[in-house]
Amino acid sequence: MKLVVLTGAGISAESGLRTFRGNDGLWENEPIEAVATPEGYFKDKKRVKDFYNGLRTGLPKFKPNAAHFALAKLEEELGNDFLLITQNVDDLHERAGSKRVLHMHGYLNQLRCEKNENHIFDFTGEETLETKCPICGAMSRPHIVWFGEIPLFMDQIEYALQNTDEFVYIGTSSVVYPAAGFKQVAKHCGAHVTCLNLEINPNDPATDTNIQGKATEIVPRWCEEFLQKIKK
Ligand code: NAD
Repeated sequence: MKLVVLTGAGISAESGLRTFRGNDGLWENEPIEAVATPEGYFKDKKRVKDFYNGLRTGLPKFKPNAAHFALAKLEEELGNDFLLITQNVDDLHERAGSKRVLHMHGYLNQLRCEKNENHIFDFTGEETLETKCPICGAMSRPHIVWFGEIPLFMDQIEYALQNTDEFVYIGTSSVVYPAAGFKQVAKHCGAHVTCLNLEINPNDPATDTNIQGKATEIVPRWCEEFLQKIKK
């Protein structure tokens, strides 16, 4: 039984990390166009690097919650039949023990080269205007997919969505494409689709099952039930 999971900012909300929407176009008090677009970056690189430095160096104070741990446990049982796609740039899935994780919108604990998008490297400190790509020596930039840029791992994700039996999306407002369209692809290719979220749309034609509630409550329960179902 193959399972593909998509997570969004809602799964990290109870760990204390703020979600994205519903706050007047601001992300952590900064305008989205200033800190989450290539235009904003080229206008003021220091401001953008400082913004992600703040998020990166702040990560250790947030801890993975019961929802992150439940997904890591499920992965231990399912092995290669499990894939986790996350829109989150935090490291809470990794710290909960998840291994098969694709950060489709990038990852705070990595930087990449300004000149070559394939030059990606681990980084946990404060990026400055002098930080260089260790592979070619060009300038670095945050390894974050900004609005207008192409999300990562799309071929691998497309293949997984077309070949999964179950697709579950958790804590995402389903407004940021292409992630918002993954449920349609999975459903069209025969998967059962489940939504686990604080807010649900009971009339969504691409979703078979909606479970409303807080991630730390509904995700562990759903994972347990899923395991029982496949062990039968
Ligand atoms: P979003 O903020 O647009 O939507 C969050 C969703 O989670 C909402 O539908 C909300 O109802 C739900 N939610 C809130 N608290 C919840 C809880 N306790 N349990 C279950 N559901 C809950 O997030 P998105 O859809 O992921 O899109 C925003 C973009 O912003 C992403 O691409 C992501 O890269 C970025 N982002 C990432 C982080 C992070 O890494 N933790 C945080 C903020 C924004």
